[in-house]
Amino acid sequence: MRLVLIGCPGAGKGTQAKVISKHFGLAHISTGDLLRNEIAQKTELGLKITHIMESGKLVSDEIVSELLMKRVKEDDCKNGYILDGYPRNVAQADNLEKTLGNMDKVIYIQVEDGIIIERMSGRRGCPKCGQMYHEKYNPPKKAGICNECGTQLVQRKDDVEETVKHRLEVYHNETSPIIEYYDKKHILYKVNGVGDIDKISAEIIGVLESFNK
Ligand SMILES: [Zn+2]
Repeated sequence: MRLVLIGCPGAGKGTQAKVISKHFGLAHISTGDLLRNEIAQKTELGLKITHIMESGKLVSDEIVSELLMKRVKEDDCKNGYILDGYPRNVAQADNLEKTLGNMDKVIYIQVEDGIIIERMSGRRGCPKCGQMYHEKYNPPKKAGICNECGTQLVQRKDDVEETVKHRLEVYHNETSPIIEYYDKKHILYKVNGVGDIDKISAEIIGVLESFNK
């Protein structure tokens, strides 16, 4: 089974992709992870990606496509895979169909922008031990300080409210057309991404199981 998961930044795609991939034995391919991996290796391409991401822009289709084509040839993709964060526009969707064929199902996780902004701009992380917090939903015992190691918490550049708003705007401009694109192919399934995470997972798995019979 070859799936695509669509949803704006902060919609919970990564979490759902992990659950679905485990349930059906599919490889979870996050283009964000592919990019971060490249950044971590500090390749020439990685440094270029760092610069693009820090300015709140999206990495070019060519770069993402190149990384993805390499990834789907790996062994764990034999049963299929779930694409998380790709395609992000119609050009990428077309390119995907040309190179890898039709996808079986596209799941669109819908969350309103206001909720996304609240979810993301409240995130704080510990630069020392990596522990994550949220100012409202999961605050540290002492404001701005890590419970585990007492380090001053920081906000990722990606999570600053203005950056989030800009990313959402870019996202909607690019992604709205692919929702229509997949809807016309009758492979799109929309799910409400606000609420209990387990219930959302169960709904998606139910849809895919009935399709997969
Ligand atoms: Zn810490």
